[in-house]
Amino acid sequence: MRNGVVIVGAGHAGVQAAASLREEGYDGPVILIGDENELPYHKPPLSKTFIKDAEAKPQPLRGEAFYSGNAIDFRPGVWIDRIDIGARRLEVSGGAIPFDRLVLATGSRPRLIKLDGAELAGVVSLRSLADARLIRELSTESEDVVILGGGFIGLEIAATLRAAGRKVTVVEALDRLLGRAVAPVIAAHVRQRLDAMGVRILTGTTIARLEGEGGRVSAAITSSGERLAAQMVIIGIGVVPNVELAEAAGIVIGNGIRVDQHMQSSIPEILAVGDAASYRHWFTGADVRLESVQNATDQARLAARTILGHADPFSAVPWFWSDIGDMKLQMVGLTQGGDSHVVLGEPAENKFSIYHYTGNRLLGIESVNRPADHMLGRKMLGAGFSPSPQMVAAGPDALKAALAGFQTTEPAKADA
Ligand code: FAD
Repeated sequence: MRNGVVIVGAGHAGVQAAASLREEGYDGPVILIGDENELPYHKPPLSKTFIKDAEAKPQPLRGEAFYSGNAIDFRPGVWIDRIDIGARRLEVSGGAIPFDRLVLATGSRPRLIKLDGAELAGVVSLRSLADARLIRELSTESEDVVILGGGFIGLEIAATLRAAGRKVTVVEALDRLLGRAVAPVIAAHVRQRLDAMGVRILTGTTIARLEGEGGRVSAAITSSGERLAAQMVIIGIGVVPNVELAEAAGIVIGNGIRVDQHMQSSIPEILAVGDAASYRHWFTGADVRLESVQNATDQARLAARTILGHADPFSAVPWFWSDIGDMKLQMVGLTQGGDSHVVLGEPAENKFSIYHYTGNRLLGIESVNRPADHMLGRKMLGAGFSPSPQMVAAGPDALKAALAGFQTTEPAKADA
């Protein structure tokens, strides 16, 4: 390899891909390109702590010395808008960047909404550090905040800004929070605790239009005609994958850049990882595109191995977390399609877990403030161990013993 590996996108996936290439022993050139003018940073704190704390600093994914120390040619502030597939190079203003292998780690961006008034100052969404800085600044001048979208990010922001003393209203089109991402019992629990914090939640409602004064948003008018005062409106209605670069190059797209179990796109020298990549999940057989730090970093690790000639397929257990007020939500597995569940712990104590089953097979676990259940769940699903609902009902100690027994009798499978 002469031109080495070029990675487009310096977020969670891109940085991990660069790190893993070196960890796996790759000694050719590695170029990491990102459009933001920042040292790559952790995104999760942006909605949880950063926006309420004027002193908070971004948390770098790796220190500056990591890039120079590992001969990773990090190029910030560069936007790539064309891949010349035939010549195996990226076109940038003032030249071209050739590659032997290309990793697309372009992530996703907030979904936009067509709304009268959406262009007003004070109407924002949250994806990047620049967005978070803007929200933090606007929040100091905003007594009333309206958030459109009751998904993870919208609710994290709602809890964070409420804790910072803002009057917050969440407007959600569906009749429940958190879409189909979590079980109804968890969504209802989250709603109850946010209510108790003083966050106003309107479900089955949307925003019909926004009003402004002097170019700055001043109110959101709901679909039921209510006028909600707002000096800041945050649109949190999900994300769309950044696929345009790949699409224009003729790479196959399907709710993301389609990749196989080795993270290779329809052009095998070009791999895709993270929020931008969609694939058939080994665990459920469903086509998915997951938006989580775990998915981004595990896929990036595998992409590096693929580039180095290994043929192991993607088989990481999916997990995710979200901090909403005093709730640490942790999810492991993919729970869609479950037909029964077992509850451990007490919702009233704000500590419980839901074990989801399809038939007798454990699909996944959703936990609220029960991190030990989550960690044990990762071990169980990673080992291919599916405890019966009766075993789960017997409690964590019995489960740990059952897992240990399983690993003793089926070590090969458990280690896989
Ligand atoms: P990103 O991290 O988005 O990185 C992609 C990068 O590529 C971006 O910098 C983008 O600007 C750049 N780029 C795109 N196109 C180009 C181009 N053509 N040229 C140059 N650069 C380009 N996940 C969790 O698991 N738990 C959480 O609690 C959690 N909280 C979150 C909170 C917030 C506020 C946000 C925004 C996300 C959160 N996530 C969380 C999701 C998680 O951050 C993402 O799943 C993860 O960042 C995906 O990594 P990625 O590298 O695929 O994309």
